[in-house]
This record gives sequence, C-alpha cells and structure tokens, in this order.
Amino acid sequence: MQDLALTYAREHREHYLNDLSEYIAIPSISAMPEHAADVRRAGEWLRDHFIALGLQSWLIESPIGGNASVYAEWKHPQPDKPTVLIYGHYDVQPADPLDLWHSPPFTATVRDGYLYARGADDNKGQHMSHVKAIESYLKSSGSLPCNVKFIVEGEEEIGGSTLPLLIESHKELLACDVVMVSDGGLLALDQPSLEYGLRGLVYFEVEARAANRDMHSGIYGGNVQNPAMALAQILAQLKDNVGRILVDGFYDDVRVLAADERAELARVPLTEATILSETGALKTFGEPEFSVVERMGARPTLEINGLWSGYTGAGQKTVLPAIANAKISCRLVPNQDPAKIFAQVRDHMQRLAGPEITLRFQTFGEAAATLIDRNSPQLRAAARAAEATYGNRPVYTLSGGSIPVVNEFKRVLNQPVVLLGFGLNNDNIHAPNERYALACYEKGTEASIRFLAELVGEA
Ligand SMILES: [Zn+2]
Repeated sequence: MQDLALTYAREHREHYLNDLSEYIAIPSISAMPEHAADVRRAGEWLRDHFIALGLQSWLIESPIGGNASVYAEWKHPQPDKPTVLIYGHYDVQPADPLDLWHSPPFTATVRDGYLYARGADDNKGQHMSHVKAIESYLKSSGSLPCNVKFIVEGEEEIGGSTLPLLIESHKELLACDVVMVSDGGLLALDQPSLEYGLRGLVYFEVEARAANRDMHSGIYGGNVQNPAMALAQILAQLKDNVGRILVDGFYDDVRVLAADERAELARVPLTEATILSETGALKTFGEPEFSVVERMGARPTLEINGLWSGYTGAGQKTVLPAIANAKISCRLVPNQDPAKIFAQVRDHMQRLAGPEITLRFQTFGEAAATLIDRNSPQLRAAARAAEATYGNRPVYTLSGGSIPVVNEFKRVLNQPVVLLGFGLNNDNIHAPNERYALACYEKGTEASIRFLAELVGEA
C-alpha cells in the first residue's frame, strides 16, 4: 500500500505542483483587512480540495469573529487503527516589500528547482505535502493505513487566538493518537530534524518609583533616591558576569539533561562560530558549562527587553526622574512553572529594592515549555519515515522559541506532537522571494506517506 502510494506520488509530481500553485495564487494575507475575502477563499479552496479527494470537510467558524479553520477527515473510520491529526495554516504573511520580488508573489514560479511564491514554504507547501500523501493513498489503493484528520487554521501569522479555543471546544472531534505539525525546516535536504521541546515564556514590566514627581537634580539630588539608579542596581544583581541567573529558586525545577540526551544534542550542527557569523556578536555569552545548543533549548533565560527613564531628548535636562521602567522576559524550559518563576523574580527584586523605592509589576501572558517523549512510538515512527525519505537519521533538537498551539494540542488532546518540518532554513519565509524546493515538496509527501504506514507498522 505504501509502495503504491509512493509510486503514485512520483508519477503525479506535475499535477501536485499545479494544485499547490492554484492554492498559492490566493493571497490569503491574514494581517491585511483588505484581504479578508481572500483569506476566506483560501479556506474554502482547501475545503473543496479535500472534498474532491473524497474526504469530509467543512469550515469551523471562529467563535470570536476570527478566521475560520478548515477541518477534514477521511469518511471511513477504522476503529482499530490509530488516528493522526495533521495541523497547518492557510494564511500567509504580507508580501511587502514588493519591489524586491523577482516574480509576482502570488504567481507560483519555478526557477532552478524551486517554487517561488508567498506561502510556498510557510505553510501552504508544507501542509499540501500531507494532503498529497493522502491523495496518493486514496488514488492508488482506495484507502489509508490509519485514520487521518486535518485542522488547518487561518490566523497563525497574526498570533491567532481562535485555534486554542477550537481545540478546547472540539476536543472530541480532534481526538487522535498523535498530532503532526510541519511548520519548520530540515537542516539540509538530506538531514531531517525532529523538535522534541519548545521553550515557554513569562513576560512582565516593572516600574520603580521614588517620588510623586520628577525633581530638580540640584535641589533634591543627594537626598532622594534616583529610581533609574535603583532599578539598574536591582537588574544588575539578577545575573552574574557569566550569565547565570541569581534569582532564588530559579533553576530548582529545571530538567537535568541525561548523558545520552547531551550526546544527541551534540549532533545538532549549531556552533559558536555560526552564532558569531549570524549576529556579528564579538563573543558568545552564557553559562560556560553548557554548549550553545543546550543554552538555546535546554536552559532558561532572563533578559531585559526594554529599559527607560528620565530625559532622553537632545541636550541636557538636569532632572531627577520619579520613575524608571523595564520590560523583562524569561524563556522557560520543561518543568518550570511560569507563574512560580514570575513570583520568584518579583519577590527577588522586591528584596533587592530598598525602602526608598516602590516596585510595581504587570505581567503580559505566559506559556509553559513543552517536552515530547523522544522515545514514544509516534516519534519513532516519524524518525523511521524521515530516515527512509531523506537518507539520514534525524537530529533531535530543542527549539529556543515557543509555538503556543503545540502546547494546546499536547495539553488538551494529551498526545505527542511530532514536529517534522519539510522546508529549508534559507527558504526566505516572511521575506521577499519565499520559495520551497520542488524536492522538499516531493520528499515531504513521501515522508508523510511513510509516516502513516510506520504508525501502523506497515512499512
Ligand atoms: Zn510564518
């Protein structure tokens, strides 16, 4: 069954490319209100495409007035087989600046083995790889090795809040044994990677106040504390000079990396030299006992994201400011509780503040980190499918960033999430001349075909 599907996919490359090109031609830019009708049209196009392939599909409207999500499933449930839920997003980033494109952003154009267009990689091309895997099975043998559902949202590029609500309110419909998310990259065309962790985040702002008004620095300076100085002194005591965070209890819940996990992470091709060349930084900075890969994905951070106080205009103004502010965020790793971390940082800063300073805190949302069991049968199935397709065993990586919807899938549906990207890092996503290698499209389809078979041990 798998071999028939693989053969079918190879024989229908042209046709699959045409379908993707038609889908890409709809400028479904979620950030621009003038494209609202196009966003809708892209959702409807995908729904109709699923129906034409023999799936049941409909739009799930947003309960908060956002963009609809496309749901699809194969009509013939197989109760004894596992179910995979495939995630994607049909909205795209704006194409600006238009004059830097070498071909029109919404006309799919093939040059040198790449398909150029907005959405080619992020994310239409990637989830169409899965759609075409289903098509290959259904057209070649009339059935699927396991149950398949799709949920394709229209708000990913605007940090949408609809999908988390839908996951919660449709958890029976979306029930599955594994969620497949392809919204990332391969390390190279012959080197797949599987992300098994995402960092979490807490973000807050602090205001330090010393007096009820700005003051003349000649009259009051020397008698009233300067909140800018006080805040600087507090912030300076949050970290030591090699980057270790000094907040009491901050590392208490951090997961300790096992030796085999450190060995696996050492395979990730990210080095100090990469970071220096990408950023122009003079030297890397961070906990010396951890590698750059470990610091990126397995260690938490505390960073000042903004800092302001007093007079910052031209010339001089001898003011003693009344208040000083900072925006601070912490990237969190598995087992750290965002609310607990915020409380620890807040209490630590309060202890460092003298009686002449009042600190006030405001939080802006939080998300816990995600960790997926590398040894779960679902991840192992994905690893076998990836190795058979790309020719090398996948590298397991921990992402430094956060994908909130992955947390929601994992939390509400309570199943592993496979993060297997099909694009390449130099595909210019969110930038002019976005592209998706034709080989990536084809291999993505093959990897998806193999994954479905591996899930039921039929490869
Ligand atoms: Zn994107």
